[in-house]
Amino acid sequence: MRQKRQTADVVVVGAGVAGLSAALAAADAGASVLVLAKASHRSSNSYAAQGGVAAAVAPGDDPALHASDTLSAGRDLCRPSAVRLLTDEAPGRIEHLRCLGVRFDEGLGREGGHSRARVVHAGGADTGRHIADVLTARTREHRRIRLLEGERITTLSALRGSAVVLATGGYAALWARTTNPPGAVGDGLLLAHAAGAALADLELVQFHPTALRDDNGHDGFLLSEALRGAGAKLLDGGGERFVDELAPRDVVARAVAARTGARLDLRAVERERYPTLMATLERAGYDPADAPVPVSPAAHYAIGGIVSDLDGRTSVPGLYAAGECACTGVHGANRLASNSLLECLVFGRRAGLAALDGPHFDAVAAPIASASDPGSALWRDAGLIRSAAGLTRLLDSSHPLVREVAACGLAREESRGVHFREDFPVESDTLNGHLVVHPGREPVLEPWS
Ligand SMILES: Cc1cc2nc3c(=O)[nH]c(=O)nc-3n(C[C@H](O)[C@H](O)[C@H](O)COP(=O)(O)OP(=O)(O)OC[C@H]3O[C@@H](n4cnc5c(N)ncnc54)[C@H](O)[C@@H]3O)c2cc1C
Repeated sequence: MRQKRQTADVVVVGAGVAGLSAALAAADAGASVLVLAKASHRSSNSYAAQGGVAAAVAPGDDPALHASDTLSAGRDLCRPSAVRLLTDEAPGRIEHLRCLGVRFDEGLGREGGHSRARVVHAGGADTGRHIADVLTARTREHRRIRLLEGERITTLSALRGSAVVLATGGYAALWARTTNPPGAVGDGLLLAHAAGAALADLELVQFHPTALRDDNGHDGFLLSEALRGAGAKLLDGGGERFVDELAPRDVVARAVAARTGARLDLRAVERERYPTLMATLERAGYDPADAPVPVSPAAHYAIGGIVSDLDGRTSVPGLYAAGECACTGVHGANRLASNSLLECLVFGRRAGLAALDGPHFDAVAAPIASASDPGSALWRDAGLIRSAAGLTRLLDSSHPLVREVAACGLAREESRGVHFREDFPVESDTLNGHLVVHPGREPVLEPWS
């Protein structure tokens, strides 16, 4: 627990791709920067990321096509201005990573919902590790940045006097079945809310269709979408295909959840392209060259987060947010594969630059309290298929973020993107907006342009 006052021009909380992008941008522009992370950089979602980063870099591709795919996955809920920025700035961010020393593989991957092969990857399915290692090395050697790991922030009051960028990642590890490392429990959302910042779209959590189903310590290990792009097939217990493997994730996830004994057949995939992933499977006792591996969905990505504008500004002066902890509206109701590392690169940098010119954070904020593990209740009552009865039960949770997830889930009386209500199975024209939660208030619907 950190109560001591920490100062620098900019303090960044979180050392994933979003935090490191913010820190490097601010420091390159002349600021002194302190980066605080509760764990080693190896224990972040960024480090775990497999498939890659989407960017219109191929001949014949165009940011406008990337934007159009992002908008259609988002089911009319994407903030168009954020999507334009994300897709327009993507090629430049990839080039910048190359300049910093990231070595991308030859060729581009194709993932669900993308109309083109446009996913840049490194080390096969080790993209996150390659990017995070390079950004961490550049951060450590930067003379204006101090990086401290093992520093968990529990109150923002300790950071008053600096511009503060929250880059604390998402909250999908609150669910019992998850692909996320254990730290992704929404600390940043609670910190920001305690300082008066609004949160939004908390009900929108993406479930990945193909996480390993395993009783021996590897449950939830992600079998990247890139594998399906490279020819992996989903089979039911009888060995039959039952879904288009490259359909949007929510469609594939519900199809997999509805089958008992779903398995991913990796025999058509070139093993040499995914050395780390295949080695992990082998260590777990599977031989992907011999037999399909058991899979089922797991909580994967938090679309909801701290309401932020396109430069990371939250509703609290001097407080910025970027990456998975933020909610710019860029993903709408369903994140397109490989758009989230990109979000960290684009909006992390923009938040770092905006923090240079903005006011210092000066709000008084209560510490965040610890609460019991809500995993099983969330999985049961706010999993892939939800209803008023289950969501209402969660309103009594001792975990403050779970109560807000439930309130948003109840308010969204429709099924849209990743949010599926069996009692409201279709999209509603009247809910075409973002559910915003101001501290101590019920969610309100806001359109964002
Ligand atoms: C298995 C897996 C595979 C994925 N594959 C892809 C992919 O191929 N392509 C893609 O685009 N996206 C992918 N994603 C999603 C993507 O990795 C994340 O959305 C993204 O990396 C989030 O980055 P971030 O910087 O916002 O947060 P993170 O990388 O999660 O970093 C959060 C940081 O905040 C710190 N922190 C948290 N709370 C506190 C606190 N209280 N005090 C101090 N520090 C704190 C953590 O220690 C950490 O340093 C994947 C995710 C997973 C889990």
